[in-house]
Amino acid sequence: MELLPENLQLLRTQVALVTGASRGIGRAIALELAKYGATIVVNYAASSAAADGVVETITSAGGSAVSLQADVSQADQVDTLINAIIEKFGRIDILVNNAGITRDTLLLRMKPEDWQAVIDLNLTGVFLCTRAVSKIMLKQRSGRIINITSVAGLMGNPGQANYSAAKAGVIGFTKTVAKELSSRGITVNAVAPGFIVTDMTNDLGNTEEILKLIPLGRFGQPEEIAGMVRFLATDPAAAYITGQVFNVDGGMVMA
Ligand code: NAP
Repeated sequence: MELLPENLQLLRTQVALVTGASRGIGRAIALELAKYGATIVVNYAASSAAADGVVETITSAGGSAVSLQADVSQADQVDTLINAIIEKFGRIDILVNNAGITRDTLLLRMKPEDWQAVIDLNLTGVFLCTRAVSKIMLKQRSGRIINITSVAGLMGNPGQANYSAAKAGVIGFTKTVAKELSSRGITVNAVAPGFIVTDMTNDLGNTEEILKLIPLGRFGQPEEIAGMVRFLATDPAAAYITGQVFNVDGGMVMA
């Protein structure tokens, strides 16, 4: 990667926490925000080598990044993560709630633990990180919170009752928190990807059938989600946008 020339680094003074940034969409978001000059906190759960690789890619291009392990479904680990960021950088300007998992199976076969694990990370994790970071943003009187939801939260998807419930929950959460934080200059938006090529989707089965549902006729790339996230983080382009859901899905969902 290459950083943009300094006069184009619109996020130069900003500190961004990207959850689940060791791989896939989160990694692409970390690199994109870094390209625009932001200091990046690369959060991960288990892949420390991959997270360090993201940090190395950013720092060797002249950017600034650190990796911090935390399971963001756990309140105490989120608090430790946020405290560590404040101790090191003194502020958090951008929060991207990206970490997510799937435990797909049809409803009648879905075990309570499959349900709970997905709700715990994909919905409760978003609540925990947003609550902790919003305290800091409220004091700063500025901030951008961007939640990665999914088209599954808008249109449902067989085998994903847990995942689509969590992702639909993230949309309601986004709108409510956008209203609660708006008076302090904090915006809260959601991005709903369609099928993006990552580890999460490397086992999709019948890809021909899925491609028929996508008007643009192809799967998306992580960088195509990262571009939308970067736009929502940028001033003044996105300063007047809050409580919205942006589909980046090759046209799968058209309202
Ligand atoms: P991915 O390639 O499987 O990567 C998941 C990331 O989340 C990894 O960095 C992983 O860290 C991290 N993670 C997992 N559990 C965590 C935990 N408990 N705490 C902190 N981090 C954790 O997934 P992806 O496809 O990039 O998906 C990223 C987001 O986009 C998710 O919210 C997903 O639901 C959403 N999304 C994806 C698609 C798609 O088609 N791919 C479509 C719609 C929405 P480790 O490497 O340490 O495990």
